[in-house]
Amino acid sequence: MIDLHVHTTHSDGQLKVAQILQRAKDDGIDVISFCDHNVVGAYEELTKLDLDDSGVKIITGVEFDFVHKGKDFHMLGYNFDGRKLNKSRIIDKKTPEDKMEEERRHLIFLKEVCKKLNIKIDDSLDIKSPNEKASTILKYHMMEFEENSQILDEMLGKNREKSFARGFVHNPNSPFFIDMTIGLPTAQEVADEIHRCGGMVFLAHPFDYKDIAHNQYIQEMFDLGILDGVECIHTRHTLEQINYIKEFCSIHNLKISGGSDFHRDGKQRLGYGVNGTTPITEDYFFKNIEREVKCNGREI
Ligand SMILES: [Zn+2]
Ligand SMILES: [Zn+2]
Repeated sequence: MIDLHVHTTHSDGQLKVAQILQRAKDDGIDVISFCDHNVVGAYEELTKLDLDDSGVKIITGVEFDFVHKGKDFHMLGYNFDGRKLNKSRIIDKKTPEDKMEEERRHLIFLKEVCKKLNIKIDDSLDIKSPNEKASTILKYHMMEFEENSQILDEMLGKNREKSFARGFVHNPNSPFFIDMTIGLPTAQEVADEIHRCGGMVFLAHPFDYKDIAHNQYIQEMFDLGILDGVECIHTRHTLEQINYIKEFCSIHNLKISGGSDFHRDGKQRLGYGVNGTTPITEDYFFKNIEREVKCNGREI
């Protein structure tokens, strides 16, 4: 099995690089890529870790935000020169303190919206670490109150399976909407930088967006002429959607990839897509890799 889309504590993931590598080894994952949001800190950390050869092949990865038609979308970069990309203008250079301040501002706004909608919250809820996202901690906080169960059933589904961030905070039609696209690069700018650093550009989880025409979005991104491939298998893709993308990639001579988009236990399963039911096999790995990340103090 492989997993080419895993988040660490360098963005909004729950587990550290070393913890994920151990898990990958235990779970029989052969190839992994850490794709944190807009940063490549996981690869800097890897050079410092004193790890035995885990047997898990690592390739560089990153997940960039970009703006398209006023909305925030995601693009994956793989197999780039990490040191070169780390100096790029599209890498997020906010300090941990900057991030906390920004998330605090978001949380204050979101708490106000909760009050207006009669959703019970504790006013003292606060951002406690730089990796906490206002949307994530508020979602789990709202779930703690029995009084909110009815409205959360409607908003997030009975199993709370829907994303509060994507469905509400990033949705211009929602009262929780916060415009996160200000200052974001375009798809072309992101792709140009990844290519300049020797990497490959993959469209991330094209079906994992609300309120867009997905097939049209895939076509529009392809028409830009910037894609090397598309992420096919993903936790929130269905088998039908995966088959659609595979067909599209086959017609247009694009590579396919797959990742769980692992953030935390209970939400995703390392090495599996389609809500943790379908193993991500070697079929979703593009084989012509030039750079494999080495651990034990060797350069990335
Ligand atoms: Zn994403
Ligand atoms: Zn992701």
